Formats: sequence, structure tokens, C-alpha cells
Amino acid sequence: MELNGKRAVVTGSNSGIGLGVAEMLAKAGAEVVLNSFTDRSEDHDLAKMLADKYRVKVSYLKADMSKGDECRALIEAAGGCDILVNNAGIQFVSPIEEFPVEKWDQIIAINLTSAFHTTAVALAGMRANGWGRVINIASAHGLTASPFKAAYVAAKHGIVGLSKTVALETAGQGITCNAICPGYVLTPLVEAQIPEQMKVHGMDRETVIRDVMLLRQPSRQFATAEQIGGTVVYLCSPFADQVTGTTISVDGGWTAL
Ligand code: NAD
Repeated sequence: MELNGKRAVVTGSNSGIGLGVAEMLAKAGAEVVLNSFTDRSEDHDLAKMLADKYRVKVSYLKADMSKGDECRALIEAAGGCDILVNNAGIQFVSPIEEFPVEKWDQIIAINLTSAFHTTAVALAGMRANGWGRVINIASAHGLTASPFKAAYVAAKHGIVGLSKTVALETAGQGITCNAICPGYVLTPLVEAQIPEQMKVHGMDRETVIRDVMLLRQPSRQFATAEQIGGTVVYLCSPFADQVTGTTISVDGGWTAL
């Protein structure tokens, strides 16, 4: 797979799935722009590490995806992009009656509205070049629900709808837009949920992972960030030129249940 000459922006890519996606894109030869809301030396070191490893240009740009103007400025500062991966996301779990309003607003802003802003800016360059890929990292929760995840499930269903709309607005122009729907992937976002689940269920780590977290994932195995990155690279390949406006599940069978 040759992505030489293509520039990819991956939002929320200093950790977890975003970093896995960025690495697979760099491996395939793309120039990569990493992003998060921090500006630490470690963030820039990650970019240097990927650049040295894959001999491609990799940079790091700070932008807070909860702020619309920063989402738009990220794409401008990158100089536009051929491949846009909207990945930044956070989670918060609570019954809806107690769900903090600020957490709802933050999740909708980062997990959904940021993709509206970045896509709106990125499309002009893609249209001018007659080629582009918008890939939204949704979730199995973009297709099904779980209790206590009102904002997350709403945002992820929303981004599946946004993906379909962008696909229709760009159809036949060399641009595709799709959503990838991972099941559980063992990243810092998921790791952070394990201690709380151990407490709630009075179980050890292995039992919580197998019998609680992966209960709905029939393979009883985590998907990996590398596998999500591989799916992104497939969507950037000519084999996927006619794959648009759809979802690809990478969930060990979760949504087949
Ligand atoms: P993670 O916590 O490891 O990574 C989240 C990334 O988003 C980090 O790089 C973080 O810095 C960044 N981020 C958070 N807030 C931001 C902000 N305001 N501005 C810019 N960047 C911000 O989590 P992850 O598991 O890798 O999740 C990545 C995406 O994959 C999310 O959209 C998540 O919903 C989705 N997802 C994850 C899983 C899973 O099991 N891990 C499953 C399905 C979908």
C-alpha cells in the first residue's frame, strides 16, 4: 500500500487507537500530523520517533477538539489533508438523571462536533485534488447502546449519521467517508475503566475483562489499535474507492449478537 504524497491528520493521536492509526499510515508512506490538546515534549518526541522509524514526515500540532475554532485551525495549520481521521474521544459513565451537563457537552463536542468542524474545512482541498478520505472512528456504540453511556452512545450514533451525510455530499468526486466501529480495544481509555469495574463487581482484573467488559464481544478478545489502523489503510486503498457512507465493524462479533 503506497500512501506516498498523501498527508493525513489524525485527531487525538498521542495515545491509543489514534497513535496506532497514525503509525499504520506512516508505515504505508503517508505524511502524518499527530494531534492532542497537550503540548509536551513527549508529544513532539512521538512524532520524531515515527518519522525516524518510517522515514516519512511526521509533525505534532496542539489543538483542543472540544473547541470549534481550534478544530478548524488544526486543518489550516496542517496545510489541509488528503486523509482525515476523526479519532479524538472521551468517555463518561453515569445514569442519565445524574449525568453531569458539562460532561454531556464535552463528550458531544469532542466525539461528534469536532468531526463536523475538521471535515468542513478539510473537504475543500480534497475536492480540489479529486481525492480524499474522511474516516471517523465511531464505536460498536455507534450501532448499539449500553446503559449509563448516554452521551457517548448519542455522539457515536451521531458520527455514523454524519459519515453517511458527508459520503452523499462527496459521492463520485474521488472522496469517501466512512465510520469504523471498534469493539473493545485495550487502550488508556479502556484501561481506566478496569479498576472501577473491579470495585463495582468485586472481581479480579482477568474476570472483569472476560466476564464484564468482553461479555458482549463474542471473540472474548480485545481488538488492537494496529487492526484499527489496518482498517484505515484499507479504506485509503484503491480497493475501497467504492466503499462510502458505511460502517466497518472491528468488534469480535459484538454487533452480530
Ligand atoms: P485514548 O484515551 O487512548 O485516546 C484518546 C485520544 O484523544 C488521546 O490521544 C487524547 O489525548 C485525545 N483527546 C482527548 N480529548 C481531546 C481533546 N479535547 N482534544 C484533542 N484530543 C483529545 O482512547 P482510545 O481508546 O484510543 O479512543 C480513541 C477513539 O476510539 C475514541 O473516539 C473512542 O471513542 C474510540 N473507541 C475506542 C474503543 C476502545 O475500546 N478503546 C472502542 C470503540 C471506539
